[in-house]
Amino acid sequence: MEDCLFCKIIKGEIPSKKAYEDEDVYAFWDISPTAPVHILVIPKKHIAMLNDISEQNSSVISKIYEAIPKIAKENGIAEDGYRVVTNCNKAAGQTVFHIHFHLIGGRELTWPAG
Ligand code: AMP
Ligand code: ZN
Repeated sequence: MEDCLFCKIIKGEIPSKKAYEDEDVYAFWDISPTAPVHILVIPKKHIAMLNDISEQNSSVISKIYEAIPKIAKENGIAEDGYRVVTNCNKAAGQTVFHIHFHLIGGRELTWPAG
């Protein structure tokens, strides 16, 4: 996707602070963090949003969820706990239309989400 911000980050056309990378998954620090640890975990292959997940492409979601505890442990938030959030579409506040999983921790998190 030529105009996708996160595809550009994966290609290295826009800089990012890498937190994790494997064949299918990339993770980088959020530019506008809401907690001491705020990392975005994304598939390297463009998928716009959760609505676009299907039997054909869902295997990458397991890869993402395999990566998340590794990233959490590496950044010292696994023991205390953390939250994983995916905003799907406009009403949920999705602003970048390349599916991403916010990994948020390092402080006490309130619930329910707004
Ligand atoms: P969402 O609102 O769920 O679509 O989340 C998009 C996230 O991307 C926000 O938390 C932004 O702060 C973050 N973001 C936007 N541009 C960049 C960037 N260039 N590098 C890192 N994070 C970004
Ligand atoms: Zn993309």
